[in-house]
Amino acid sequence: MATIKHTLADLTNFKPQHDSFVGIDSDGCVFDTMEIKQKQCFHGLIVSHWNLGTVEKPVRQAAEFVNLYSKWRGQNRFIALQKMFELLPNHPAIKKSGVAMPKLDSLHRYIASNGRLTDVSMQESATKSGDAELLSLLQWSRDVNAAIARTVKNIPPFAWARECLERIRQNSDAACVSQTPTDALVREWEENHIEIYIDMIAGQELGTKAEHLTLATKGRYQPERVLMIGDAQGDHKAATANGALFYPINPAHEKASWQRFYEEAYDKFLNNTFSGAYQARLVAEFDALLPDHPTW
Ligand SMILES: [Mg+2]
Repeated sequence: MATIKHTLADLTNFKPQHDSFVGIDSDGCVFDTMEIKQKQCFHGLIVSHWNLGTVEKPVRQAAEFVNLYSKWRGQNRFIALQKMFELLPNHPAIKKSGVAMPKLDSLHRYIASNGRLTDVSMQESATKSGDAELLSLLQWSRDVNAAIARTVKNIPPFAWARECLERIRQNSDAACVSQTPTDALVREWEENHIEIYIDMIAGQELGTKAEHLTLATKGRYQPERVLMIGDAQGDHKAATANGALFYPINPAHEKASWQRFYEEAYDKFLNNTFSGAYQARLVAEFDALLPDHPTW
């Protein structure tokens, strides 16, 4: 598929060239793809797949809250779907409509059993069990992938992101760390010729972001020499789970965030003055942008 390294073996056998490592999320962090992917691809297909046309407005509102404007931003698509259908029955417009929301019992069971949240793993489980709900979820997920491949094309990186990647390349090892399917990541990074600034791409198929960071960095760097850059709480959690540092790309302020990284934050990371008060200030500013309660 790709020239850039992207397999589990690449991640596991990774050989450091520097004493520091930077993990970089993709959607909503490097690329301004969150709005178009969510609104044009995911949400319309939620409405059509579950036949929710009569309540499209609140469904879209909940989907946008969960996927774009809350602390759940950037979650795996199946987790986000579960959260959205958990919140919706309390939406006044849904209550008033009397339309029942899907319960997704099989998905709850699958997630509770620690099933991997990828199309391939769900396919294996669904084929074995013949579970109609999982098979239907998979169809939705594939339809989303196809819609993204058709719709999301030639979206350039945010301003200052390329310049930052160039600087990172000179001083640190680096990888794309994402929950997007690998083939979409490879397509988007290669189409913009920015795969040359990183050592590998770790997508959905290679595990969670926390697992990616562990596989790539454990035993290879001091924890304070590992930094995750991302636009969602899940990116922060993945960093914390590895004792690593976190640099937020603030939703709706991406350009300013990357510029600050270029002019200030990356130097602080390199000279070991990033952790502590500086990181705490950035994280507080970031957290304030992502609420946990919907306003409806
Ligand atoms: Mg993201």
